[in-house]
Amino acid sequence: MPETAKAARYLLHQHPELSGQEQHTAARIIKWLTAVNPDQILTGLGGHGVAAVFGAENAGPKILLRCELDGLPIQETNTFEYRSQQSGVAHKCGHDGHMAILLEVARRLQQKPVKTAQVILLFQPAEETGAGAAAVCSDPQYQALQPDYAFALHNMPGYPLGSVMLREGTMNCASRGVIISLQGKTAHAAQPEAGHSPAPAMTSLIDAMAGYADQFGPTELALATVVGARLGAKAFGTAPADAEIYLTLRSETDTTMQAMLDDIEQRLKLQCRQHQLTYTMDYQDVFPTVCNTQTGAGIVADAASSSGTELIRLSRPIRWSEDFGHIIAGRDGALFGLGAGEQQAALHNPDYDFPDELIGYGADMFIDIVKQCMVN
Ligand SMILES: [Zn+2]
Ligand SMILES: [Zn+2]
Repeated sequence: MPETAKAARYLLHQHPELSGQEQHTAARIIKWLTAVNPDQILTGLGGHGVAAVFGAENAGPKILLRCELDGLPIQETNTFEYRSQQSGVAHKCGHDGHMAILLEVARRLQQKPVKTAQVILLFQPAEETGAGAAAVCSDPQYQALQPDYAFALHNMPGYPLGSVMLREGTMNCASRGVIISLQGKTAHAAQPEAGHSPAPAMTSLIDAMAGYADQFGPTELALATVVGARLGAKAFGTAPADAEIYLTLRSETDTTMQAMLDDIEQRLKLQCRQHQLTYTMDYQDVFPTVCNTQTGAGIVADAASSSGTELIRLSRPIRWSEDFGHIIAGRDGALFGLGAGEQQAALHNPDYDFPDELIGYGADMFIDIVKQCMVN
């Protein structure tokens, strides 16, 4: 393990890897974790996932702490010495910092072992695509662990450095990419009435979705964002036969997500009947909500107050999604935000970087959370 967790972060930052391709990052993590001598190291979890287990199985509550391995397909514009060496790929969500926090927790667990709990440090792959947590959860090696509690943090630019953002119930919105394909029949552009163009169905659907915020809100966030669309081709003699619409749906509850999907499907069926079309609907980047339990949120709040950290209760869920929802499902736990500074560049921006000071704040919070779980 490098001398400090900060040095480990700089190495991880220099060598980012995209979702699902984190083999070198995982190899580094395995090497560093081996040096702090956990009771068990699991590898290849749901892809390149790694878990270090500290403490015996029957020692007490099993507490899982999660971080993420993946970087993003973004070109870094920072010029500092430890900038990304990988063209077009960078740690722009701070997952390098989240890993450094768990490495620091690992070091502290080695120095001061916890005797009445089992602590599982999970380095999860492919968070950005929403594929990693689900893959880890269906991995038989992971299923054997069965944690009682699960916690994760995410750094949040725009909030005071080191402050804790928390919410009971939905912490992060559900979101999913939807690809709608419409298929009709081409005709000569001089005789469009002889074909079945998907154009009217396409425009009607896009219009309808602009009203989703009112239709499914306003008590909760419900968004259908058209992120792209395509109709026919640049062939001026032909009336089109095919169209695609790309959407991102976002909601505060999984129920509202389902209601929006049902509504889209009903409209598609109606439009396809009217205009003699067929349709398919496919999904990509599917994230359920992250739902913090009352007990889990209580433990985080107690940990924040015992370490004297400012606690900010969020009145509304965070709009961006997190696949930690799969890991927390069916157990107590919470995801909380860790303020990355009010002036910090936003997540996924080319000039973003994880603040080093947060490594200590994050590690303190996780160690306090473990203590709170033991007395809960
Ligand atoms: Zn991200
Ligand atoms: Zn992230």
